[in-house]
Amino acid sequence: MAWRLDIAVQTPAHAALGDLLSYASPAALVPGTLVRVPLGRREVLGVVWNPPVSLENAEPDMALKPVGAALDALAPLGEAWRDLVAFAARYYQRSIGEIALAALPPQLRDLSGTQLARRLRRKTAAGPVAETAEAAHPVALSAEQTAALARIEAGEAGTFLLVGSTGSGKTEVYLRCVADLLAADPGAQALVMVPEINLTPQLEARFKARFGDDAVVSLHSGMTNPQRLASWLAAHSGAARIVLGTRMAVFASMPGLKLVVVDEEHDPSYKQQEGARYSARDLAVWRGQREGAKVILGSATPSLESWHQSRPAEGEDPGGRYVRLAMPSRIGAGELPTVRLVDMNLQPPKTVISAALLDAIGQRIARGEQSMVFLNRRGYAPVLACADCGWKSECPHCSAYRVFHKIDRTLRCHHCGFTERVPRACPSCGNPDIAPVGRGTERLEEHLAELFAAVTRPDGSAVRIARIDADSTKKQGALESQLAAVHSGEVDVLVGTQMIAKGHDFRRITLVAAVNPDGALFSSDFRAPERLFSLLMQSAGRAGRDAAYLAAQGATAEMWIQTHHAQHPLFSALRRHDYTAFARQQLEERAAAGMPPFAFQALLRADARTQEAAQAFLNAASAAAEALEGADRVVRYPAVPLAIQRVANVERAQMLIESPSRAALQRLLAQWQPLLHALRRTPEGKGVIRWLVDVDPHSI
Ligand code: ADP
Ligand code: ZN
Ligand code: ZN
Repeated sequence: MAWRLDIAVQTPAHAALGDLLSYASPAALVPGTLVRVPLGRREVLGVVWNPPVSLENAEPDMALKPVGAALDALAPLGEAWRDLVAFAARYYQRSIGEIALAALPPQLRDLSGTQLARRLRRKTAAGPVAETAEAAHPVALSAEQTAALARIEAGEAGTFLLVGSTGSGKTEVYLRCVADLLAADPGAQALVMVPEINLTPQLEARFKARFGDDAVVSLHSGMTNPQRLASWLAAHSGAARIVLGTRMAVFASMPGLKLVVVDEEHDPSYKQQEGARYSARDLAVWRGQREGAKVILGSATPSLESWHQSRPAEGEDPGGRYVRLAMPSRIGAGELPTVRLVDMNLQPPKTVISAALLDAIGQRIARGEQSMVFLNRRGYAPVLACADCGWKSECPHCSAYRVFHKIDRTLRCHHCGFTERVPRACPSCGNPDIAPVGRGTERLEEHLAELFAAVTRPDGSAVRIARIDADSTKKQGALESQLAAVHSGEVDVLVGTQMIAKGHDFRRITLVAAVNPDGALFSSDFRAPERLFSLLMQSAGRAGRDAAYLAAQGATAEMWIQTHHAQHPLFSALRRHDYTAFARQQLEERAAAGMPPFAFQALLRADARTQEAAQAFLNAASAAAEALEGADRVVRYPAVPLAIQRVANVERAQMLIESPSRAALQRLLAQWQPLLHALRRTPEGKGVIRWLVDVDPHSI
């Protein structure tokens, strides 16, 4: 046993075992080699992390256990990949082993060296990129596309923010950029990320049509373990020239990485919301810089962070680090839809769908066009209540109401999952007349069916209304078949949550309506308006995508918004499709209030049996931070309960910490981490069930 190896393994969270474990080995395995190592009573997968250290002249160390088999049929993971993992671990306050092992396909943990070698033999070597089916360059680029592509291809590396309206041809720019890159460099690889699994099949089809089936693999959590392993191996060996995936794909091992595309870069799904809370978009930018790869962030409504980071130089301000590229015009699609605001203050009380909107949808039905009605709340009604005694359908385990689902007559908690059949009478006073309060997609669907019962389609048949949300799409394949029904024209009015707002290229939708978007205007979360604006812009982008169809119908595309706050600046910007004005106004507010992107934040969160215990831990943590170097450059706010304070009988509290300097915040977090582990073992830490740090949190 002549060598000591430091190995990254997945240690239980917060075991405080340190980042790497040392083992003895007869062979000097190079960093990046995958090995099996004993851990407790199990044998687990690990990654050799550091260069081997000779044990020749060392004191014989009885404590070092020997490594098991090395999976040496596989090329070691590269230095750039290890740097990415180490950076993510450091930045997001997790262990190297946790990030490294989560980034590897789960099946690698179960395969023996021989089994793996067999899999590898099945894979063929990298072939030339076949420009198949579609011809090499199927469309002539527009002037805007040409200019954007030229600018991206001009330099060596860098990060580009491609700001293009929905339907402006961003995807075509990605395709062309990838094609040029792969043609110029036989070893080059490209990574293309999308926010939602649902969007991968569409994109995969487009890339495979252009580059051939073998050049493209996908990586997302909807795949089986064998599929994921096959994709991962193809990426790692270089055989796959293009990797498409969701946020997890940012950690794909790609030795030839030269281009990263993050489509819909503003999308909140890029931020992992459990475990290591990383932002795949931010890691993509970091990875691009580290590997000298180009990074394209694409969006119609960029995150304010990226928008700010791509600001042009002005006066004293040297400008941001990203290059901003604009593609304002839609291709092949009509003009962006006309935005109509309905002032709900002027409607009769209890109006759900205003008469004008009803009429507009009715006209579309009569012409055989499709409409999309959008409400960001699923279920039948968010609350069931008794008018006699005031009983409400609270969840006994959470500080939240259970949602009434009429379809299966259940009350369901959307936070802990607790589900019961709807009681026949008020559980508190026996009143049989308990009633739904408010409205979700199920109820909206029912309501629309009643409203349009008397309206007929051009051929005299009845109106067809469909709903797409998390409930309607639970079964495997349900979403695909429901989307297919919309595409093939079997639906006249589509009701749904934000699920239908994203990405889908519906050709016959000429009207999109948001019936109740006001909630986000006055949310305590400072990012809520930003999310609402992009969601509404994106929804609007679903209407009138096919100019030829619009012309043939003699129709104009419309986006309807029902609101009690028609004068709100968000809506006036939306009306003009003016992202720039919206961003300017938001950034002014953020700058004045010292909020991101002008400040950097992290949350320390604690869960405990009681709110007092959770807050006591946070307050003790805050006191411990006082003495740390540079603590004066970081503001620590008081501990507060989360908006939904109790979930599944666990009380949750958080503390915001903030600094104008990212480096200062990072320095404090790094010093704080060991203190937090130690604190857990003191009386203040006793009642704490778990704690976590969320760096650059998305919602506060
Ligand atoms: P985005 O990703 O910005 O929403 P897409 O790249 O999907 O836009 O393009 C929208 C539609 O326009 C697609 O059907 C695409 O095939 C088509 N398209 C894109 N670029 C061109 C072009 N230069 N000429 C003709 N059609 C184009
Ligand atoms: Zn009652
Ligand atoms: Zn609950």
